[in-house]
Amino acid sequence: MAIVTARSTEGAEIHLDANTLGDLRARLRGALLLPGDPGYDESRAIWNGLIDRRPALVGCCLGVADVAACVNFARERNLGLSVKGGGHNISGLAVCDGGLMLDLSRMRGVWVDPLARTARAQAGCLLGDVDRETQLHGLATVLGFVSTTGIAGLTLGGGFGYLTRRFGWSCDNVRSMELVTADGRVVRASERENGDLFWGLRGGGGNFGVVTSFEYALHPVGPEVVAGAIAWRAEEAPDVLRLYESLDRHAPPELTCAAMLRLAPPAPWLQPAIHGRAIIALLLCHSGPVEEGEKQVGPIKAFGSPVGDVVRRRPYVSQQSLLDATQPKGRRYYWKSEYLPRLGPALCAKLIEQAQRIVSPHSGIILFPIDGALQRLPEDHSAAGNREAAAVLTVMASWETARDDETNMAWARAAWKDMRGFSTGGTYVNFLTEEEGDERIRAAYGKNYARLADVKTRWDPRNLFRMNKNIPPRDGA
Ligand SMILES: Cc1cc2nc3c(=O)[nH]c(=O)nc-3n(C[C@H](O)[C@H](O)[C@H](O)COP(=O)(O)OP(=O)(O)OC[C@H]3O[C@@H](n4cnc5c(N)ncnc54)[C@H](O)[C@@H]3O)c2cc1C
Repeated sequence: MAIVTARSTEGAEIHLDANTLGDLRARLRGALLLPGDPGYDESRAIWNGLIDRRPALVGCCLGVADVAACVNFARERNLGLSVKGGGHNISGLAVCDGGLMLDLSRMRGVWVDPLARTARAQAGCLLGDVDRETQLHGLATVLGFVSTTGIAGLTLGGGFGYLTRRFGWSCDNVRSMELVTADGRVVRASERENGDLFWGLRGGGGNFGVVTSFEYALHPVGPEVVAGAIAWRAEEAPDVLRLYESLDRHAPPELTCAAMLRLAPPAPWLQPAIHGRAIIALLLCHSGPVEEGEKQVGPIKAFGSPVGDVVRRRPYVSQQSLLDATQPKGRRYYWKSEYLPRLGPALCAKLIEQAQRIVSPHSGIILFPIDGALQRLPEDHSAAGNREAAAVLTVMASWETARDDETNMAWARAAWKDMRGFSTGGTYVNFLTEEEGDERIRAAYGKNYARLADVKTRWDPRNLFRMNKNIPPRDGA
């Protein structure tokens, strides 16, 4: 008798009886969760509250063997399959409807080799897990701006953060990966082993298998850095954007400065009179020696009339989690993003104009600088590409309730449309929303797309791994 009705990769019904489920349970060290089981709803709940999907089964993997068992089970039955790393993807790609979801959140081990300056991290790690362990040795790799993001999705899509201007994409700093492929094999990918796979995994997302661990190169950083945030009234935005531009062009690679236009949150570091009013903030991080950092940020702290300033010596891990509270799990989120070749006065004017139309106190427009180290490598160094970009422009809408969905999404779409003309033509694959399909995926990869399709065809010819920004294998799935 069928006790679970699941969905195939094409959406057809698949009935799973008690024996079949018992067989999978016996193959797993971790739990197998069904709808209604304790932990099931917690496992399927992800960062973006807009996403509400219900897998038929959740495999809570405790190790590589559990991952292989789940992949084999799904392939043998043509069952829909999704993989949850940190669950932070804006499109909610971690969770499938009616299929088998692999939940990697219990695989969070990190092993640091301080002499070799490398760290191996299991694929369920959040960014903060890796920083915490590597910082014990005054080392770090390139990770993103919010510590609760998963390393897996971030690294597989490229990955940028405060260290990008010095050390490139996160995936440029990966030495090797271990993964379970569509045929259930456990393989390593590095420059020396399965080089085509290694090339594709560094930017091509979860298209080629389930990565179980990453080996990162580490660099001396911190543990203390000069970093924080500084804000001005929106009236000063034209001058502050000029300052941002000049820092982007002339600041040493150790200094990263992201710009954010939004309404001031009621945060203690901002003057109470400014709460709820439009501001522009710079997020600063100098990752070199603190004395040099203080010298570099001095003129920025003295610029104009700040309404809040928490730029100071602080632990690198504190900077890495500075934005966490602004991005709580479960709120509703919708983003639109483009790579920019440069800023310039016309775009600055648009940024200011669109920021004035923000409709939610949680929304904002952000410029993340990424120029520097990543441009020193050729475009086809790895699948991530987009190495001519100077910054990532992201319109970030965030709000509380379903009744405000349309208004907030409409603001983000309109702002994006207005500024899209300034794009390099590329877009960051990790920031693509649910509705952004094939055309935008191709734009994200540019001329690397054709080679990605070759790698996909070789490693996943039946497109088992399709719950991602999908690159279909040649000759169809
Ligand atoms: C608040 C916030 C801040 C962010 N800041 C940054 C930033 O500073 N820099 C940056 O580069 N990006 C940033 N991102 C984007 C982030 O890189 C992506 O959302 C990324 O997908 C998150 O990874 P995850 O593991 O949490 O995602 P998940 O939602 O778990 O997974 C995302 C995709 O990766 C696949 N995947 C996950 N784990 C594996 C695995 N082990 N093997 C194969 N495929 C896998 C999933 O199947 C899915 O397709 C941010 C996102 C959020 C929500």
